[in-house]
Amino acid sequence: MSLSCFDPRFGERMLSVDEALSVLGESLAGVMRTPRSERVALAQAPGRVLAETVISPLDVPAQTNAAMDGIALARASLPDAASGEPLSDRGELSDHCELSVIGSSLAGHPWTGRALAAGEAMRITTGAALPAGADTVVMQEQLEYRSAQGEDRAEGEAGERVVIEGVTSIRRGQNVRQAGEDIARGSQVMVPGQWLTPAAVGVLASLGLAEVAVYRPLTVAIFSTGDEVTAPGETLPAGGIYDANRFSLVALLRDQGVEVLDLGILSDDEASVTAALRDAATRADMVITSGGVSVGEADHVRSALAACGELALWRIAMRPGRPLAFGMLRAIPADAASSSGQVPFFGLPGNPVATMVTFLQFVLPALRLLSGQQRLTRVEAKTEASASTTTLAQWQAPRLQLIAGETLRSRAERVDYHRGQIVLDDQGRQVVMTTGRQGSGILTSMLLAECLIEIPAGCATLHAGEPVMVQWLGSRGIV
Ligand code: AMP
Ligand code: MG
Repeated sequence: MSLSCFDPRFGERMLSVDEALSVLGESLAGVMRTPRSERVALAQAPGRVLAETVISPLDVPAQTNAAMDGIALARASLPDAASGEPLSDRGELSDHCELSVIGSSLAGHPWTGRALAAGEAMRITTGAALPAGADTVVMQEQLEYRSAQGEDRAEGEAGERVVIEGVTSIRRGQNVRQAGEDIARGSQVMVPGQWLTPAAVGVLASLGLAEVAVYRPLTVAIFSTGDEVTAPGETLPAGGIYDANRFSLVALLRDQGVEVLDLGILSDDEASVTAALRDAATRADMVITSGGVSVGEADHVRSALAACGELALWRIAMRPGRPLAFGMLRAIPADAASSSGQVPFFGLPGNPVATMVTFLQFVLPALRLLSGQQRLTRVEAKTEASASTTTLAQWQAPRLQLIAGETLRSRAERVDYHRGQIVLDDQGRQVVMTTGRQGSGILTSMLLAECLIEIPAGCATLHAGEPVMVQWLGSRGIV
């Protein structure tokens, strides 16, 4: 796309969501810097973004070990029906055999004696290292232990005999975890940009790492605008509305590991909005407001932004959500070397659902890009080259295809984001239904939502039973 995001034509024509994401990505590329990094203890790492390549210093597991409690043995030392060997003294096919137990290998207390010889076995517990000479583990449930005098015993001890049932079904290597089968020494385990999930910190811990390099979190300044907007806890004046947006935005931002600078509520007054934007630009990596960007008389964010930065105002072909202001604030950089002197700005619409939906479509991918995160959508290798040059869409919430559980209607020329829930229909099939009323002020629709149902532009009616794409938000709200 050759248009700049500040092209005045964007103020006039409706942009598709994809077009907006694409020009937004190009604008952000101009201010993109690799974030600075710091080292943190592993316990502090969840919810941060990895800043280094992790190469495994060891095999995981470090030794070949037992996956079950039982005995370790060499499969080759057992008789084998397939080989035609007689399985009993009388030459009959028998499914059990007896071995002598020479000792124990316990988790944390490996066997240090000689290797197993033919006809020998070793008692072993889950996680204990396999002794030399063994390649197979037979589980406890298939075993009976006997003393040298032939009495039954509960557990094997050196000098005892063990009787194995079901010998012919034993496969070489069964119930054994090979050294390095999870992670091989020297292999690349993670790359910069990895979001440190519970599993990721677990894997880092399994490598023995006590600390990791992570990117410094972004600082994002937010404020609400509107003379009617009232902070929770205060008495609601006539015509007032409580400030929902600042709280949903703080939560959305914290979920991304962002440090939030909450600058409160601004009245509909150009001078105070301008002053607040100027101040925020010197203290934050991004500034977000809600409200005050439509064409109503009291909408001052646009004019304030024009005074202290460069503004692109977009009418985006989506519902809920238009209009949206994006711009760059001029900032006096505290650290000129690491800053472009420009701070990205988003002026989100004021309606609470529109605030959240536009955040999810545009701000979330922008934050993920600027905070150094890997994109969320995996791209097949053959399309990687083209994908890497294009759009921020790969940092959006993941898309899934589901079946519509009811007929969904949309304004044909816009993409509609209905708030959806997954339910079982009367035939037990999993389908997606809207959460009920879908107005952009009905914030309880977001409360109930597990996904945003995307009804594309050009599709006025989507019938029950037809496939539909959803953006998955997860059962906790946002993935
Ligand atoms: P605006 O974009 O300023 O015209 O606001 C659109 C609608 O959203 C109006 O009904 C506002 O009262 C409402 N609104 C704006 N900001 C907030 C907020 N922070 N919390 C809840 N509602 C808001
Ligand atoms: Mg307003």
